Amino acid sequence: MTNIEKNEGRQSGPVDCDAAVHELYHFLDGELTQERRDQIARHLDQCAPCGSAVHFESELRKVLADQCQEQVPDALKERIALAIGEADRHGA
Ligand SMILES: [Zn+2]
Repeated sequence: MTNIEKNEGRQSGPVDCDAAVHELYHFLDGELTQERRDQIARHLDQCAPCGSAVHFESELRKVLADQCQEQVPDALKERIALAIGEADRHGA
C-alpha cells in the first residue's frame, strides 16, 4: 500500500482543485503572488465547482462586510466549510 500525501500548503506547481480550494482564502485576501493568483484564477475559470466555491465565498464576504463587522456565526462557518467541501470532493 502506498500512502499518497496531498501537497497541502504548496505554493507552486500546477493548480488542481485541492490547491485552488486550499489557497482560496489567500487568493481572496490578496496574499499570493501575482503569478500564483493568475494560476488559480485560471483554474477557477475552467473548473465550475471551484469557480462557484470562490463566487460563494466572495459574495459571502461582501454580505458580511455590509452587515456586520463583528462575529461570524458558527452556523455560517459550517455552511462555508460545507460549500468548500463540496468543491473539494469533485476532484480525485
Ligand atoms: Zn477545481
